[in-house]
Amino acid sequence: MSQNGFSIKHIEGKSRVGTLKTSRGIINTPAFMPVGTAGTVKAMLPENLRTIGADVLLCNTYHLMLRPGEEIVNKLGGLNKFMNWKGPILTDSGGFQVMSLANLRTISEEGVIFKSHVDGKKFSLSPETSISIQKKLQSTIIMSFDECTPYPIDKSEAEKSMKLSLRWGKRSKNSFGRNSDSLLFGIQQGSMFKDLRKSSAIGLTDIGFDGYALGGLAVGETQEKMFEVIDFSIDLFPYNRPRYLMGVGKPSDIVGAVLRGVDMFDCVIPTRSGRNGQAFVEEGTINLKNAKYKNDDLALDPTCNCYCCNNYSKGYLSHLVRSNEILGSILVTWHNLSFYLNLMKDIRSKIAEGTFTDFAKKF
Ligand SMILES: [Zn+2]
Repeated sequence: MSQNGFSIKHIEGKSRVGTLKTSRGIINTPAFMPVGTAGTVKAMLPENLRTIGADVLLCNTYHLMLRPGEEIVNKLGGLNKFMNWKGPILTDSGGFQVMSLANLRTISEEGVIFKSHVDGKKFSLSPETSISIQKKLQSTIIMSFDECTPYPIDKSEAEKSMKLSLRWGKRSKNSFGRNSDSLLFGIQQGSMFKDLRKSSAIGLTDIGFDGYALGGLAVGETQEKMFEVIDFSIDLFPYNRPRYLMGVGKPSDIVGAVLRGVDMFDCVIPTRSGRNGQAFVEEGTINLKNAKYKNDDLALDPTCNCYCCNNYSKGYLSHLVRSNEILGSILVTWHNLSFYLNLMKDIRSKIAEGTFTDFAKKF
């Protein structure tokens, strides 16, 4: 595809509505990507994800390289065919998961050596191997390999790490080469330090990517701090490329980040909460394990038009969740993802109408 498949259709303040053209179809932005860690969005069939409005899924390189391994996925036709999802798939680089292995990994200029959490076997990841694995998975959007720093971190450590990530970003780009089927996104680091974030964004822009991600956020900092980093970072990225806030977040994080100019999100919250009996509703979240829902004959959210809300009462869902029934996970996940994807749809139409800023303030 052309170098830039991103077009901006509507603007309100810093918020944008756009479309990202990929070899696997169009992603409407601002977009939320349900997380399909091991090649499945837990408790959801791919066709139902499409029905509720998901354009793109995220899968984890780290999990897939360990099990079943990228060679098997490749042999069985690539991730899309393997998991029966026809739309775009973004894979992370594996860096984030590897970094969180703490005592089980060694970082050097070359890359990271780590022990698998599955069987203790030794693996290594570098910019070159990460890109090669993501290519074998046949990912639509490939993430460059970076180091995600913990929070809080000393400035000198954050600087060293950010510079390493930039060198790895350059190597990721070289390794990606010219690839007509996939897009490559770079990842900004620099913890909460304004000057480091600036150097990182400038360095990435020099290398040149199809999209730019804000990494190293949602790692334990406050929402205020995260918004501050977005505020001083966002204008440093090329305007006509998508911006992706990794691993975020709660609905209020998403609304606040779109207000500040972010286009793409992913997060395990709606799916993980769904499996724990936590449901997203207009006022926040409710816990279906709570005894007060036992006799409740209303839908989770009377304004929601999803399969769960159209057919089941809170009383029934509460029963399923308390009995650890698989259907409980399926239905609450269905609703939670519908809630998130409906929110994105609302956000897009409000930006198009020019009423998003008011909406965000009230949210
Ligand atoms: Zn619903």
